[in-house]
Amino acid sequence: MNGLFIPFLYTPGAQGMHLRGLTGADELSVEANNTSGVLALLRSLSQNGNNGNRFDAAAIVTADRDRVIARLYRTLYGAKISSTLECRGCGQKFDLDFSLDDLLAHCYPAEVSIPDDGMYEPEPGIRFRLPTGEDEIAVEGVDGTTAVNILLKRCMGAGEPEIIGESVQIKMAELAPVLSQEMQAVCPECGLVQQVLFDMQSFFMARLTAERRNLLEEVHLIASHYHWSHREILDLTRTERKHYAFLIAEN
Ligand SMILES: [Zn+2]
Repeated sequence: MNGLFIPFLYTPGAQGMHLRGLTGADELSVEANNTSGVLALLRSLSQNGNNGNRFDAAAIVTADRDRVIARLYRTLYGAKISSTLECRGCGQKFDLDFSLDDLLAHCYPAEVSIPDDGMYEPEPGIRFRLPTGEDEIAVEGVDGTTAVNILLKRCMGAGEPEIIGESVQIKMAELAPVLSQEMQAVCPECGLVQQVLFDMQSFFMARLTAERRNLLEEVHLIASHYHWSHREILDLTRTERKHYAFLIAEN
C-alpha cells in the first residue's frame, strides 16, 4: 500500500481523503479500539502538503469514515472478512465469512446530493446534519439513550430529540448507512440461528492490534539480518516490511 484516495459521499466541503501507506510505526501506535483511536490513526495517515487533506479527521461524517476504514481494510487484508464465533446454544466455535464488497453493496445509499450547509430536510419539521467523529467523541463513555439524545441534539437543526429523534435516526440510516450491521449466523453443530453484530471500525482495529505479535517478529527478523535501526524498520510501509521478512525467511 503506497497511497490511497478515498472519495466521500456525505462530508460537506470535502471531496475525499488522501492516505499515505501504513507503516509499522502507525500499527504500533494504535491503542484504543474506539473512535478516538481510529481518529488518531487517520490523522497520522493523512497526507500533508499540496495534495493533502485540509480538514481534521474528526470532521468526516461517520458513514464516510466507515468507508475509509473499509477501503483501508480491503487494501491491507483483502475483501474477505473471517471471524470465529462461539455458538450461544451449544458453545461450539464456528466460522462466519463474508465479503466486504457484498456488505458495501448492501449498504449503498440512495442517490443523495449533499446540501451546501450539510443540513438535510427530508420533510417539513425534520432538519439535521449527519453525525461526525466529533459528535461521537462528545458522547464517548456516556450510556445508551442519553448518548443518543445528546448526539441527536447536536445534529438536529430543529425539534426535540425525545419527540422526533426516532424519525431522524431512521432518516439518517437511510441517507447514510454506517457499516455496522446485524447479521444472521447459523451454528453448523446445533443449527441455532443467532444475530451477530458486525462493526467495521472495531473489527478493523481488532485485526490491526491482533497482528502486533507478527509485526514484532518481522521487526526482529529484519533487525537481526540487516542491522537496520528500530526506527528505520518501523518507518517501512507494511508491504515493504512483509516483503523483506519474506525474503529473509525464504533464504
Ligand atoms: Zn451451536
